[in-house]
Amino acid sequence: MGKKTTNSLDFTSGWAYAPAPEDTKHIQLKKQYDLFIDGKFVKPTKGKYFETVNPANEEVIASVAEADENDVNKAVKAARNAYQKVWGKMPGAERGKYIYRIARLMQERARELAVIESMDGGKPIRESRDIDIPLAANHFFYYAGWADKLNYAFPNRKPKALGVAGQIIPWNFPLLMAAWKIAPALACGNTVVLKPAETTPLTALKLAEIIQESGLPEGVVNIITGAGKTGATLVNHPDINKIAFTGSTDVGKIIQKAIAGTSKKSTLELGGKAANIVFDDAPIDQAVEGIINGIFFNQGHVCCAGSRLFIQENVADMVIQKLKDRMETLIVGNPLDKNTDIGAINSKAQLNTINNYLKIGKDEGAELYQSSCSIPKKGYFCRPTLFLNTSQSHRIVQEEIFGPVLTIQTFRTVEEVIEKANNIPYGLSAGVWTDKGSKIFNLTTKLRAGVVWANTYNKFDPTSPFGGYKESGFGREGGLHGLSAYLEF
Ligand code: ADP
Repeated sequence: MGKKTTNSLDFTSGWAYAPAPEDTKHIQLKKQYDLFIDGKFVKPTKGKYFETVNPANEEVIASVAEADENDVNKAVKAARNAYQKVWGKMPGAERGKYIYRIARLMQERARELAVIESMDGGKPIRESRDIDIPLAANHFFYYAGWADKLNYAFPNRKPKALGVAGQIIPWNFPLLMAAWKIAPALACGNTVVLKPAETTPLTALKLAEIIQESGLPEGVVNIITGAGKTGATLVNHPDINKIAFTGSTDVGKIIQKAIAGTSKKSTLELGGKAANIVFDDAPIDQAVEGIINGIFFNQGHVCCAGSRLFIQENVADMVIQKLKDRMETLIVGNPLDKNTDIGAINSKAQLNTINNYLKIGKDEGAELYQSSCSIPKKGYFCRPTLFLNTSQSHRIVQEEIFGPVLTIQTFRTVEEVIEKANNIPYGLSAGVWTDKGSKIFNLTTKLRAGVVWANTYNKFDPTSPFGGYKESGFGREGGLHGLSAYLEF
């Protein structure tokens, strides 16, 4: 206390939190990572590697193999083989045991996984420790329980596995997205080839180590690293039965075109631009916390981030003032410090995208407000930002920014806010803040969003389906819906 730090929380009284950095000594990271194919780590055919960087200090953490067509072929072949010879034939109860084992090993190594997630992706340790890693393990636990109950989940429908699933995931929740994809696929008897994002491959590779340790039969899970080209090769591979993709709407469209006319099934979870709606009868302080969580959680690197705030006009001034006051207390800085609220932007490219949108917003005539906090000189950081005086036609209101940037509009009537909230190409999520249950139910039926949170925001659970409408994609992950996406009937 009293000591000035890089994370200083300098109120008028001038006191600050002492630094509380997470220990990194127990972390075991290799300098170089190979591809995980057929139960072994193997060198990429062409011997090419790329670097993964810590976005908080711009230091290289490790080099990672780049899979080419040959490597993708090997991985798909291993997955097909494992499907036909072992996994597809194994009784569900046996499959479940392996999935439980993976879940327990993830729990045992939770702290290590959390620290690596924060180092590789830039997210605050509080989030990776309390949200990403426990939720990832919970997905394995949850789907392990279904492995021997598929006939009860879908009575009289004779569910069957699809075969080999190609899975491509983004950088915002690296391990959690891997769990969302791998756990239900395995529970249903499929085998997988997973490609993590190029900026955040490390926890997926750690998961490969855990999978090896679990004794899962070789080839059931293959993890190959690389960038978009590797992903495209996987999508276009003729022996894939299903593509599960989470990422940008642009790449989602490319994938949909690529698989059109094939028998490949697909689920696509794409961009979002959620409306977070605050009525005048809402518990305002609770709503302010929810708004802050909705957009600044994980640096706004969340496809369901509450990035468009709609406030009922008669409480707008009060809500905005409370928001600004709360933003002043947010600590931006070292992701490994337990006091940090907002960590590093995932990559330089993403920081450039966000900064470009800040410029676009100002050029469009919106009023920019940022908290006055200090940000580290090294690394990729962005202050929490509000845009006031925005309108529906602004690009910053219509387009996904994927950063800690909130646009604010006001409204008078329920009809008006529904129309504004829905007038967008996306439909992934929304939030409603009100004291009235009837208003909540009215809005949940009219908002075109896959998830609507009421008097809370960004709550996830393995039992609950998640997915979008419109350009936010199709198909659901989580819950029974997530199981059915890996089955045919
Ligand atoms: P983001 O904007 O979230 O990075 P992307 O859609 O670019 O989203 O990336 C999500 C994932 O899709 C990453 O693993 C990336 O390597 C992969 N990817 C990028 N381009 C393609 C493509 N043309 N085909 C398949 N996968 C791709």
